[in-house]
Amino acid sequence: MPAKKKSVKVLHCPSCGMLVRPGDEDFPFCSDRCRKIDLGKWAMGVYKISSPVLDPEVLDDLGGLGGGQNNEE
Ligand SMILES: [Zn+2]
Repeated sequence: MPAKKKSVKVLHCPSCGMLVRPGDEDFPFCSDRCRKIDLGKWAMGVYKISSPVLDPEVLDDLGGLGGGQNNEE
């Protein structure tokens, strides 16, 4: 008789480290909140992108959209 339990594959939420099961609504995050936290990290540049994704034309385009960067809470 096999004593081993079937192991359920779980991942850790990238934001808080909680276990997340594949198939969860917000997988790979444990919740919508953590998903947004993770997106926020990307937006703030916490995760460094090793190779430049934006080319000068795109940067120039983004510059034209400026004005939302002066939030002081
Ligand atoms: Zn989480």
